[in-house]
Amino acid sequence: MKFCFVFGTRPEVIKVAPVYKFFLQKGEEAFVVATAQHREMMDMMMNVFGVEAKYDLNVMTHDQTLDSIVASIMQRLPLVLQREKPDILFVQGDTTTAMSCAICAFHSKIKVAHIEAGLRSHDLYDPFPEEMNRRVIDVVSTYLFAPTNNAKENLIKEGIEEDRIYTVGNTVVDALNMISNSFNLSQVRSQLVPFEKYILMTLHRRENIGERMVSILSAVARFARERNVHVVLPVHKNPSVRRIVFDTVGSDPHFHLVEPLDYVSFLALLEGCWFVVSDSGGVQEEAPSFGKFVVVARRTTERPELIESGFGILAGTEESSIHEAMVLASQKKLDPSGNPFGDGKTSERIWRIVRGVSQ
Ligand code: UDP
Repeated sequence: MKFCFVFGTRPEVIKVAPVYKFFLQKGEEAFVVATAQHREMMDMMMNVFGVEAKYDLNVMTHDQTLDSIVASIMQRLPLVLQREKPDILFVQGDTTTAMSCAICAFHSKIKVAHIEAGLRSHDLYDPFPEEMNRRVIDVVSTYLFAPTNNAKENLIKEGIEEDRIYTVGNTVVDALNMISNSFNLSQVRSQLVPFEKYILMTLHRRENIGERMVSILSAVARFARERNVHVVLPVHKNPSVRRIVFDTVGSDPHFHLVEPLDYVSFLALLEGCWFVVSDSGGVQEEAPSFGKFVVVARRTTERPELIESGFGILAGTEESSIHEAMVLASQKKLDPSGNPFGDGKTSERIWRIVRGVSQ
């Protein structure tokens, strides 16, 4: 059998790399197609995991739109599929890359395997366009790899046949275990931040861009001023995000604005932080492994497991609600315990399922 793995953004590389590497370790014929939807951040993560693409579709343009990304992928990927004829094409998550590639594979009658299937916020426009992407991918997939039972239930409620759904955990835990086992994170951290106590923050969601992002940043700035604490914020490459961040907190002495970090550095900062404020999906799934509480700066969530397990709060995007949630976070004392999103063995489960090898 021949397996194709596609990705185009930072989180996809992080979550696909462990599976791809596991397949190679098992001697499988597998290759990578990179769309390069986010050129720089994708390349950075490929270096961290030592993953190379056999095909690079190089779709990113300076003024790209969701439609231009879809159009470029749909023009370029079918040529690769015709030439390579893989049996299964793996996509991950909910990006425009994953959705477009899944549709191309479907058109070519190639089976689609969806890593991280079944996540739903139940609001088609939040997260945008990710909620739509997930639903479309799940419709065309033969293998739906749900990370949790909750994700599996979402799929069953949509009428997807149960024998296509496998609860396997989230590959992000495989990825972070790979890194934690290979690097001394406290040593890495000592090279990155000169202070002991800091809040780690990330912001990038498309639907938060604008007033919501200003409110979130203002709340964090108020909390940091009141408690005289540092905030480390790796600023996403999206130009609209950068403009808002630099305009709102660019001259605030409590904020340490840095470029996007490689995965090792980011995990080192996650391990050592006081707590997290983020609108990221992946960061919510990683924080429990380090016993960190997450203030989720969003109005909806497709990861209720974080809140149910006591590792986070859905804080909305208002200045007052974010501030209130940060006060709550500051009182939490948590231990790294079982991560509700996975146990680090997801890649192996996926390989066993597609190969029909018993667990
Ligand atoms: N991340 C990273 N460097 C950073 C910020 C985040 O390596 O400077 C990682 C983080 O650990 C997580 C992933 O990027 O695994 C999250 O990516 P993002 O927030 O862009 O996307 P999402 O998970 O929301 O789809």
